[in-house]
Amino acid sequence: MNVLRIIAVLVVCFSTIAHAGIVHATIVDGIRLWVGPEGTRVVFDVNSSVDHDVFVLKNPDRVVVDLKNTTLGRKPVNLDFSQSFVKGIRYAKRNRLDVRVVLDLNVSVRPNSFILNPTKHYGHRLVVDLEATHLPDNPFNKGKIVTSFDTNEPRAVVVAIDAGHGGEDPGALGQRGTKEKAVVLAIARKLEALLVKEWGIRPVMIRQGDYYVSLRERILKARAYKADLFISIHADAFKNGHARGASVYVLSQKGASSEAARWLAASENSADLIGGVSLDDKDDLLASVLLDLSQNATIAASMEIGGKILEELQRISRVHKAQVEHAGFVVLKSPDIPSILVETGFISNRYEETKLRDKKHQQQLARALLKGVRRYFRDNPPPGTLLASAAQGLGRQHYVISMGDTLSSIAQKYRVTARLLRSVNGLMDDNIAVGQVLVIPDRRGG
Ligand SMILES: [Zn+2]
Repeated sequence: MNVLRIIAVLVVCFSTIAHAGIVHATIVDGIRLWVGPEGTRVVFDVNSSVDHDVFVLKNPDRVVVDLKNTTLGRKPVNLDFSQSFVKGIRYAKRNRLDVRVVLDLNVSVRPNSFILNPTKHYGHRLVVDLEATHLPDNPFNKGKIVTSFDTNEPRAVVVAIDAGHGGEDPGALGQRGTKEKAVVLAIARKLEALLVKEWGIRPVMIRQGDYYVSLRERILKARAYKADLFISIHADAFKNGHARGASVYVLSQKGASSEAARWLAASENSADLIGGVSLDDKDDLLASVLLDLSQNATIAASMEIGGKILEELQRISRVHKAQVEHAGFVVLKSPDIPSILVETGFISNRYEETKLRDKKHQQQLARALLKGVRRYFRDNPPPGTLLASAAQGLGRQHYVISMGDTLSSIAQKYRVTARLLRSVNGLMDDNIAVGQVLVIPDRRGG
């Protein structure tokens, strides 16, 4: 009897509260997680802008997100925490009106939260970026930039491969649902695999998985890697589904040079708004550097590489325009790193969408990029690189000394005498050093 009465009272209470008019302003429709090497992004999909608080708790590390006047529409399911800083997510109602979400973490982080307004593909979002406070391998950690350039030994040419978009920025979408971010990452990985095997060239990936990297950050990463070239890989979309063909862009000095390029520049640059980073950061170190006159030389170099890549693309696919085009893409704005943006085709065109999904075509595109890069750097090896040393060796075979090599083992390998190796390379004795490049004489003529 007592139990029934209590239940009855509770029912009355709840209905009274309901009638008292508790209306949750905001509903959380879902929680998503994006994992990058330097951080984890937690995105709350909400139906309206939400008042919130984010704070850190220690021992164990966790981040608390309080969402004011909010209710959970759906329980978050199937979140994949692997590789992320997050171990688990808990949530509970708070004081009848709010929701408290607790992110249990593996590391201590610095959270940064902001609201994103609806875009074509998403509604209102609350984004909580978790950046680890200590990351041993982060190239942006103070005082430690990727080393191996500090010696006088010839170094590899560094090619930064930038797969466009990523994470909650899908890029262009095809009619069959193909996402630009996925296609361009596949092509980027194939190019990386080809460049890894290329003597004298070292590829670095600006993004390695399905996560967003802001446009400014892409530039900064390329700088941290001391890249000699920055290639951004994209796939076009245009309102007109008939537009076809690959394009190559370099930075324009006065912004976009054609109407279409302007349109493209706007849509590619808007990615940073999606990523939540404003383009006009006031303390932007680059802003001042951008004025540097060295930009002209960089654009000239970019034009040359772009031209070679466009030639290679022409061999395997239709091109949209026969010349390298200019546009104001933010990622091309490194003042001292030749930078090109390749639109590999129109994902908005049914035929090209199918081709872009095709692994064989992706491989062909990657090969075309490789050949263009190879041709450019063979003609223009940056000083201090292995390719520059090789150019001095008149195009004969070269060998880079690695750990454990001896002059006689190399001589044996190439079936020449150690004496010939010494004389061709001007060596006084058999001392060689790791990283040193030897010219290998042709067996027939030396
Ligand atoms: Zn794009």
